[in-house]
Amino acid sequence: MTLLLTQRSRLTTPLTIRNAVTSSILSITRTGQQQHHGSYRLFSHTPAAHADFTHAVIGGGVVGLAIAQQLARRSSSHSTLLLERHPAVGTETSSRNSEVIHAGIYYGADSLKTELCIRGKYLLYELCEKHSVPHKRVGKWIVAQNQTQREALQRIHDFCVNEINVPVRWVSAEEAQRREPSVRAEAGILESPTTGIIDSHSLMVCLQGRLEEAGGTVALASAVTAIKPLGDNPKGSEGWELTVRDSSTGETSTITAETIINSAGLGAVDIHNMIVPPEQHKQMFYAKGNYFSYPASSPKVSTLIYPAPEPGAGGLGTHLTLDLAGRIKFGPDVEWVDSPDDLAVNSARLPEAIKEVKKYLPDLDETQLQPDYAGIRPKLGKLGAVAHGKGFVDFVIRKEEGYEGWVNLLNIESPGLTSSLAIAEKVEGLLYG
Ligand SMILES: Cc1cc2nc3c(=O)[nH]c(=O)nc-3n(C[C@H](O)[C@H](O)[C@H](O)COP(=O)(O)OP(=O)(O)OC[C@H]3O[C@@H](n4cnc5c(N)ncnc54)[C@H](O)[C@@H]3O)c2cc1C
Repeated sequence: MTLLLTQRSRLTTPLTIRNAVTSSILSITRTGQQQHHGSYRLFSHTPAAHADFTHAVIGGGVVGLAIAQQLARRSSSHSTLLLERHPAVGTETSSRNSEVIHAGIYYGADSLKTELCIRGKYLLYELCEKHSVPHKRVGKWIVAQNQTQREALQRIHDFCVNEINVPVRWVSAEEAQRREPSVRAEAGILESPTTGIIDSHSLMVCLQGRLEEAGGTVALASAVTAIKPLGDNPKGSEGWELTVRDSSTGETSTITAETIINSAGLGAVDIHNMIVPPEQHKQMFYAKGNYFSYPASSPKVSTLIYPAPEPGAGGLGTHLTLDLAGRIKFGPDVEWVDSPDDLAVNSARLPEAIKEVKKYLPDLDETQLQPDYAGIRPKLGKLGAVAHGKGFVDFVIRKEEGYEGWVNLLNIESPGLTSSLAIAEKVEGLLYG
């Protein structure tokens, strides 16, 4: 079936379509329905017509969805296309994480992670409340077992109070015993009351709805396989040509857009490398995080519990998280893997996870732990996730020098879910600010 979308691109800057005829292979969702096959978009047959879209956002995870809806809602004279290689949005990292709304306390004073996490947390709670996206402000405890860890907590406390104005408070031994008697914290507890949890799937459904409501288009099963900047002064000044492969049929077509946004998560470096010359190619490193579920009813905990952060570690430590039904899971650890598809939980990591968890939950019944799921952090180096210690790598969100109309997002690891709405604001600012 051929579907001609009713909404056509209305562009302010006319651009030439190089490949005028594209009988599209893109599966499109409209009005919230996901159509995997049999629904096709027919692109313009007119030679020398305008670009097909104002914005092409590559990657339908939570960040791409947040950006696409932000750009689509900006103006009705703009058209926005979201391209996702899978038959549904949000099936990669955005559905394989801890679903924690982070407070923004780990990432150093001048980092994008701090700025966007704090702003993103505020925007996320606002959106959740407005659109009834399930979430809960459960709060989080960071626990110290020795003097060195206590000093790490003190640094976080001072940073929050003196530099970023994020609420934190010390929890007394008496309060700890009353609220969470199973939790061990020999040398102190720092509480972050603004930390929460969210149903990330509902969030993505909400964002997709906002995108479509604003006239945006979602193309599923549509993998971007090549990108060509049009115009030389600078590259991209006459727009961008994208080759898109229908993941179900293997057919390819081309579309044009005035601007492109690379928010392809684990595929973002591949997209980057499609555009820049070989000497500027980057490499991605994959830090898998394994989760183990804990269906036992005891010990019962109702606050998120994190160990004190280890300088230079690739993650925040194997923590206790809760879902909205109160179920406990532990993870994620950090396991460097060679492939973004290496998503099977590595059960060999279980003894190490048990050792870490027992430090703060000594009564854990280890026989009850079960492999749950794993997610992979898209890293630009085998480096730390928090600002203290060696080799912290920040989010990369920038217009690339020497190009027009390209915003590149790399290293969007944690706290990318929390930051998604703030990242969207930032991208809009880079394009139009
Ligand atoms: C183990 C783990 C725990 C985490 N915990 C938290 C947490 O508690 N709180 C928090 O705030 N953050 C957390 N994060 C980070 C958060 O999950 C991510 O930052 C966020 O989901 C990234 O979203 P994204 O849209 O950039 O990436 P993704 O969700 O990976 O989406 C990218 C999309 O791009 C698509 N794509 C890739 N290449 C192409 C292509 N060529 N053509 C078309 N489409 C393409 C992919 O199919 C994918 O759907 C965690 C991450 C991990 C790994």
